[in-house]
Amino acid sequence: MKTPTQNVRVIGPNLRNEPTTFIVHDSSCAHCSRYEGEDGWKMDASTLIDISDCIWGDMIGEGSMDAEDGLNDITFCPCVKLPLR
Ligand SMILES: [Zn+2]
Repeated sequence: MKTPTQNVRVIGPNLRNEPTTFIVHDSSCAHCSRYEGEDGWKMDASTLIDISDCIWGDMIGEGSMDAEDGLNDITFCPCVKLPLR
């Protein structure tokens, strides 16, 4: 069975007035337009940990953090319907 994935948009890291460095929405979420002009990219993910892994990959590779730590600096909009792991 294929693992279900969701196409999400990762927005950051230069957000103003936001509590975390990155914000993640479904790639079709209407709220994404609020961040027009901000850095961002789309990716397919099957878990929240996947997304954290992708965002913080370099630092995780260096061993200075792990994907679970990275979740603390990411806000997931309710439109992101993925399991933690
Ligand atoms: Zn959203």
